[in-house]
Amino acid sequence: MLLLGPIIVILPRDQYSTRIPAEQKLILAVYEKGKIGKSTISCNISIALARRGKKVLQIGCDPKHDSTFTLTRFLIPTIIDTLQVKDYHYENVWPNDVIYKGYGGVDCVETGGPPAGAGCGGYVVGETTKLLKELNAFYEYDIILFDVLGDVVCGGFVAPLNYADYCRIITDNVGNRTSERDLIDKYVESCPMPVLEVLPLVEDIRISRVKGKTLFEMVEYQENLNYVFIPREIPDRELFSLPSDF
Ligand code: ADP
Ligand code: MG
Repeated sequence: MLLLGPIIVILPRDQYSTRIPAEQKLILAVYEKGKIGKSTISCNISIALARRGKKVLQIGCDPKHDSTFTLTRFLIPTIIDTLQVKDYHYENVWPNDVIYKGYGGVDCVETGGPPAGAGCGGYVVGETTKLLKELNAFYEYDIILFDVLGDVVCGGFVAPLNYADYCRIITDNVGNRTSERDLIDKYVESCPMPVLEVLPLVEDIRISRVKGKTLFEMVEYQENLNYVFIPREIPDRELFSLPSDF
């Protein structure tokens, strides 16, 4: 089986995050190279958290602005598009100009990108956070997930780490389409960092993207999807009589 072998690393809240009061939201950042599955995983994580009763905002930080596509099923206008239309008059921007409700109640924002050949990814992330703060939206969420392109164009895209409590790196060996994981294994051993999960290449995930749905939504129509685990409640007696090898 081919592996899209994500190294998923969680960097805990550290001294740099002390500016975020503990009672406030949790901020997550998802990073790595293109087409590895960041947005796919981000959308599914966002819904999973929303289903646990959290108020979730997913912020796509990629000029491609397709992070939230499987949540909203369209390419929502970006913050940069909207600011340009409003001639950078922040006072004329309303929350529903830039925040779109996605599947499962997840709120969605796309930063958009800097002008080609100029500008900085950090600038667009900064403008996005500034605008969301001015709209009083930044503090309304239990969880904000930044889905950030990783390895290309602009060091400024590291900006979400200024806000993030945890970071998840989704990666693979040098090429995206390889069954080998030896380079990743060497890397995590020398860092060292844990590999939290290895995701197989799943045809239904690929199809879910084409259909503009997350697995959570797909499973509503396609009951034979066996990659989404929706646990059933087990009555106490059944739980205690589960076969045991001990
Ligand atoms: P990124 O955000 O890292 O650029 P995407 O989430 O857009 O990557 O995924 C790129 C493509 O790979 C999409 O078409 C998606 O459906 C597909 N994909 C992602 N994860 C998997 C997986 N585990 N199995 C099969 N296809 C996947
Ligand atoms: Mg993406």
